[in-house]
Amino acid sequence: MAGRIPQQFIDELMSRTDIVELIGEYLPLKKAGREFTACCPFHDEKTPSFTVSPNKQFYHCFGCGAHGTALGFLMEYEHLDFVEAVHELAERANLTVPLESRDSSSARHDNSELYTILEETAAWFSRQLRRHTEADRAIDYLKRRGLSGATAAAFGIGFAPPGWDNLLREFGNSAKKRRQLQQAGLIIEKKQGGNYDRFRNRIMFPIRNTRGRTVGFGGRVLGEDTPKYLNSPETAVFHKGSELYGLYEARQAVRKLERILVVEGYMDVISLAQHGIHYAVATLGTATTREHLKRLFRNVTEIIFCFDGDRAGRDAAIRALENAVPEMREGRGIRFMFLPEGEDPDSLIQKEGRGNFEERITDSVTFSKFFFDHLTAQTDITTIEGRARLIDLARPHLQRLPAGVFREMMAARLRELSRLETVKLERGNNTTNAGTRRGKKHVKSTLSPLRLVVALLLQCPRMATIAGDPQRFRSIGGEGGELLIQLLELLQDNPNLKTGAVLERWRNRKESRYLAQLAQWKPPFDDEAGLEAEFRGALARLEQQQRAHRTDALLQKAKEGTLSAEEKSELQQLLNRDNQG
Ligand SMILES: [Zn+2]
Repeated sequence: MAGRIPQQFIDELMSRTDIVELIGEYLPLKKAGREFTACCPFHDEKTPSFTVSPNKQFYHCFGCGAHGTALGFLMEYEHLDFVEAVHELAERANLTVPLESRDSSSARHDNSELYTILEETAAWFSRQLRRHTEADRAIDYLKRRGLSGATAAAFGIGFAPPGWDNLLREFGNSAKKRRQLQQAGLIIEKKQGGNYDRFRNRIMFPIRNTRGRTVGFGGRVLGEDTPKYLNSPETAVFHKGSELYGLYEARQAVRKLERILVVEGYMDVISLAQHGIHYAVATLGTATTREHLKRLFRNVTEIIFCFDGDRAGRDAAIRALENAVPEMREGRGIRFMFLPEGEDPDSLIQKEGRGNFEERITDSVTFSKFFFDHLTAQTDITTIEGRARLIDLARPHLQRLPAGVFREMMAARLRELSRLETVKLERGNNTTNAGTRRGKKHVKSTLSPLRLVVALLLQCPRMATIAGDPQRFRSIGGEGGELLIQLLELLQDNPNLKTGAVLERWRNRKESRYLAQLAQWKPPFDDEAGLEAEFRGALARLEQQQRAHRTDALLQKAKEGTLSAEEKSELQQLLNRDNQG
């Protein structure tokens, strides 16, 4: 497994990055008071409501509610995942991303050697396709599939010659190099000692990550060897559950990807590209995972799964449907496309061409239709019993849908099919409330003292130094009290952290949404003296509130006659203090 990026480094990265400079490279920012504005890149608008705050190192759109840090902006705008965005920012700041391994924070390593050997190997395979004396069969195969030289080059297709040690002899001339080849999954250790090449007599397809670096290979056999398709094993840089073959190439070929077609094999992806469909990707011998879906939905709003028309294809589609449920929401579309029996995308597009193939995409089945067709096929909805069973079948899936308009509509369709007025989906108080969606919920103008203290800290993190000992807020209790203490301790230790860096500290924690929301709050005053006075006042109110709660608790105990001597004197003090105030 890859290591984790140390928090210290993220802090450093955030302090070296200026969000105004970064976003300014993508959007024409105009200065407006202390902030910068532009038309929002995340929704359509004519007048700018997208603002970037240099003080907070935070952006926020008043139109659609999009918000985040410099890292968050890169993730949203460039469709990168967190690690990719960190690398991108690090490159701009001229920093090298360190990794701490899982078990020991001192043992640092990075994967640059692995990437290098994979890159060199890819180049070597591709040279063998052009030059090796036995490459004819590979070239014949590609020609039969109708591939042009340009397509082969775009996908970096290569050739692993027959033989057990071609790659070993080329690159494995030192123990260090052999270790790298092994870590990259390119050679295999023999039981009796020594190594041999993993890929032999195969057409080679480099698998690239979204940054375009080769992370592994797929190889299709040319002789009688098995298996027909062979992938690199999981390595420190290659994770089958999250990589998608062809995604990098699709993003290179199409300026603005609108939809992505998910197919089964490399040759399907390549053959479709050859025929002008540059938006196909393939999973690497695994079913589509949620990780894959998240990655795809970072790039497009519509995903079409392409399956064989046979029984196995149907089963695979149902698995994909079930995996997709938690990722479905309004604004996202998933479709299911079934090929005629005996065809795969490669054979079909050769037969009927791009136009007809794209018509099939357009005619494919929507998520909701496939979902209900699948369920109603299992029961007879002309009977009461059958309709009751339909509800039982559907409910667990619908409960896994994120709250929102889409879920409401699915529930409405279930009511229609079951002819039931209400179908209760909810467990507990988790009501479907579209208002909790991004941007709809604004910070209330009157904040509780606790929220106000946190909000003011996010306005001006340095003020933590005047807050005194954080532990005295221990008795507030709950998640809110804990958050305040953690925030104060962090900022007292690191008074130079900007709001953006603070939010990055909380990135993967459940409080991150709450903090991001408070970070968008605009105080009615924005000079530092005003903020500080407000902060002192809020702290005082918070303490007063704590005292009131404590007094109530002790009075209750007094009523029950369970007050200790110590508590009695504490209560006395609290009451005296109240009388003075
Ligand atoms: Zn917006």
